[in-house]
Amino acid sequence: MSANPKGIVRLPQVEQLLQEPILAPYIRQLSRPLVTDVVRRTLAAIRQEVSFRTDGISDETLYARLEDDCRFLLNQRHARVINATGTVVHTNLGRSPIDPELWDSVADVNTGYCNLEIKLSDGKRGQRKGIVSQLLSSLTGAEEGMVVNNNAASVYLLLNELARGKEVIVSRGEQIQIGGGFRIPDILALSGAKLVEVGTTNITTADDYINAVTENTAMVLMVHCSNFVVRGFTESPDIREVARRLPEHVILAVDQGSGLSTERFAANETPSSNYIRAGADLVCFSGDKILGGPQAGIICGRKEIVQKLEKNPLMRAFRPGRMVYSLLEELLVRKLNRESEGQGVAEKAATGQAVIQERAQQLASELGDKVRLLPSEMVVGGGTLPDEFFPSWSLELQIDKQADQILADLRAMPLPVIGVIRNDRVQLNMAAILPREIPVLTEQLRSYLSL
Ligand SMILES: *Cc1c(COP(=O)(O)O)cnc(C)c1O
Repeated sequence: MSANPKGIVRLPQVEQLLQEPILAPYIRQLSRPLVTDVVRRTLAAIRQEVSFRTDGISDETLYARLEDDCRFLLNQRHARVINATGTVVHTNLGRSPIDPELWDSVADVNTGYCNLEIKLSDGKRGQRKGIVSQLLSSLTGAEEGMVVNNNAASVYLLLNELARGKEVIVSRGEQIQIGGGFRIPDILALSGAKLVEVGTTNITTADDYINAVTENTAMVLMVHCSNFVVRGFTESPDIREVARRLPEHVILAVDQGSGLSTERFAANETPSSNYIRAGADLVCFSGDKILGGPQAGIICGRKEIVQKLEKNPLMRAFRPGRMVYSLLEELLVRKLNRESEGQGVAEKAATGQAVIQERAQQLASELGDKVRLLPSEMVVGGGTLPDEFFPSWSLELQIDKQADQILADLRAMPLPVIGVIRNDRVQLNMAAILPREIPVLTEQLRSYLSL
């Protein structure tokens, strides 16, 4: 390394920099090729800079630049964060966290070989879905259940198998977009089904559906409006009436979305079992919203229809692996037995207000007058229960700094914390904070607030 009085003019070799201890943790977490790439790009950028050409660069600055660039990449690696947003099933934060005990309990079946597709009774080829179908039947009251990779795949599969080249009747009030780019009319078009729109944005009646039926109608699809509500002069049909009046050849399918089942906190929402009881032939929902399991799409309904779906060649592309099946089995067993590990995070947060308050008070007492404890609200979020708020508690940080900057500081903590801004102040909502996160959150905040 040759330095002039002002700094280094000739930059070190890439290989030499990769030996520096300061880069070792990044190599460990990002791999050597990725760090090599970062170093090359950083050096190339520095070479282009006028300040470097005139003044050179000091060791210190060079290493700081390399670390910044490595850290930028490392921030993109999947890592734990603390969810202090008050949105419990947060799409951007991974939706439902899996209960740690549930996760541990499937480690064995996933780290060895398993009976995924073999019958232990006779050694012959078996069905991938194990006892999941029976468990889903028990949960929803449907004859049969099946699993795909996510609920978007459920909707696509049932349209493609049951309505390709035929008509599907959908209410104008339910032609919705859910999250990034999943639009019901687009999925319908892609699946090869033909959309028949009925009703209006606010009003659709049973007559609207029944009058639109032709010989070529394959399905009536009802879609839960997961992320908005229409208020005021509205009417949706009684599903029982639609089910009763639809002719035999038309399948009644409901995209229920959230997976609400045995949970008892969402009185205004319809659990899947109610749709089945009301006469729906099929109902589908996500595994990682209110159900609280792994990412999956679940379809429950009449045996002969589910079996038809399972034979669709797309199932080869849509079928989950054993990680999903094993987690779902364990979750459903515990859910049906009403064990705490089988209850999703939404249920726990919405029914755990006393715990949330206690935790908030504990944290507030540790942090003194730099925080203010105040009652707030939580939502389930993630496309589940639009417009339903549950009580929660939040800590408002009382420090003299721009709210945006505080949020950025929180994200830069060793275990990043995602907060929210309310009335220009940063708040940490306690609803989605997991018990084991309290000590580390306390420690991080104490250090941030210089306590
Ligand atoms: C969330 C949701 C979907 C999409 O489910 P993914 O599991 O994200 O694929 C589809 N329909 C409804 C009604 C939803 O709420």
